[in-house]
Amino acid sequence: MYCLRCIAISIVLLATTGRAADRPNILYIMSDDHAAHAISAYKGRLAEIAPTPNLDRIAHEGALFSNAFCTNSICSPSRACVITGQYNHTNGVFDLGGRIPPGKQMLPLQMRKAGYQTAMIGKWHLKNEPADFDHYCVLPGQGKYHDPEFRIRGPKPWGKNTIQFKGKHVTDAITDLSLDWMENEWDQSKPFFLMHHYKAPHDYFDNAPRYESYLADVDIPSPASLWEMSPGYGSLATRGDQDELVPHIGTSIGGRNPRRSYLRDLPTRYPKEFPTNFDPADYTDDENKKFAYNAYLRKFLRCVKGIDDNIGRLFHYLETSGQLENTIIVYTADQGFMLGEHDYQDKRWMLEQSQRMPLMVRYPKRIKAGQRLDTLVENVDFAPTLLEFAGATIPATVQGRSFWPLLESGREPDDWKKETYYRYWMHMAHHDNPAHVGLRTKTHKLIFYYGCNYDGGYRTPPGWELYDLVNDPDETINIYDDINNKDLVTELKTRLATLRRQIGDDGSHYPACEVILQEYWDYDPGDREKAIHISHEFLARRLGELARGDRTPKTSVGTDHE
Ligand code: CA
Repeated sequence: MYCLRCIAISIVLLATTGRAADRPNILYIMSDDHAAHAISAYKGRLAEIAPTPNLDRIAHEGALFSNAFCTNSICSPSRACVITGQYNHTNGVFDLGGRIPPGKQMLPLQMRKAGYQTAMIGKWHLKNEPADFDHYCVLPGQGKYHDPEFRIRGPKPWGKNTIQFKGKHVTDAITDLSLDWMENEWDQSKPFFLMHHYKAPHDYFDNAPRYESYLADVDIPSPASLWEMSPGYGSLATRGDQDELVPHIGTSIGGRNPRRSYLRDLPTRYPKEFPTNFDPADYTDDENKKFAYNAYLRKFLRCVKGIDDNIGRLFHYLETSGQLENTIIVYTADQGFMLGEHDYQDKRWMLEQSQRMPLMVRYPKRIKAGQRLDTLVENVDFAPTLLEFAGATIPATVQGRSFWPLLESGREPDDWKKETYYRYWMHMAHHDNPAHVGLRTKTHKLIFYYGCNYDGGYRTPPGWELYDLVNDPDETINIYDDINNKDLVTELKTRLATLRRQIGDDGSHYPACEVILQEYWDYDPGDREKAIHISHEFLARRLGELARGDRTPKTSVGTDHE
């Protein structure tokens, strides 16, 4: 007698394998801190001088998202959102100290269950072993730009099995690893899900030697806000009372911030980018700022050039191996980066250049070429989108929503989200950014700098900012205090409070912080008076730190290096 149960199981297995073999591959490419306005398809100020033709090809032959946003603009937290499909207060990765242990690496787990062969190559930055991938080869922490070492699975404990690339730049090495994996380790009876993560262009930028002359003689176009802080920009939180905190909030390109600036950091790192025997005392403030800005952007864009050329190598492989049309290609970065706007460097801010993620998706069989989509999407939506595309199961624990139907139809669903959430939990760490929470719609952005650490300490003045993104896309005029916007402020605050409840950022994670956040929520005249007082106190504290030569960042949790 036949075993009916065995036959049934065999049929299910055959069906699964058969489906899997027909299904497309997924090549998910994520760089680090690659701001959208440094990709020429986004048509920013750098598009002409630093074109990225291979990256642009993904957009020209697919879809480009102009409103894709991270929910916490810093490396490990954003990566955690992508892997889990959850906001940081849910996945627990509030800052750089966070980790996603094996068993919780939802995206590769679900892909594997759906019959995909999974691999993670490049920058991982979530501390625990990426053991839920079939294959991994990842940098330890940030990894190194030159002669990079990688952690692989092996007989020794996690982190102890390593391989090193001598004489290689990390961007080239990561591409070599992925090409080698696709060529030699991919089992072609299954589709692959490859997360290919570049370290570049994370600071401190270090390009491959072949790019050293790239842009060497070019004066890099700069944003107006680099040179002069718009009188309307900011609040008590970002400028202090009577602008007294302008030097101390946000690290700077020029000499504005006495604790940390690129003018202070870059001449010793990149001496070739500065005049011989450079001494800032010999130049004006603006001249110094220009030297630092050009050094910053040239090194950053040389790293970007390395990525673009390596994307060309990936395209070449997929074309010559016959896999191009059967592979969806996604390009993104874990967040954006301030490229001198407001005289800020780094990310962390809810400002456009930092909050926005580049996102381009190519799959001509099902995605129409040349689309520019302005639908609001968040990094928590990436995993469910890829899972739906793969025919995999989206667990109920996922907070994001798949935008695959939008990609396929080009039409935004009527019930799609009308706002994105943001919360930068760290406070005055590394780059002097106060913690903040906020909401962005297609037309406005509301930011609340509540001004304290997780434990309610290291107070900075609370303040609210509201920007009109239609009439002021560069976020130069805070319209929160304009009496004409009273109803709008009330409406957006209500939406922010509702959104916080809906996604579970309900104040229970760090109660002492929440007490302060609630205290300044209405921001009545009494709160403003208190904020002015905190501004004076913070200034005295910071000047004291500087006088003592104390230049260490202040943060109570997640003191891992950047
Ligand atoms: Ca990053």
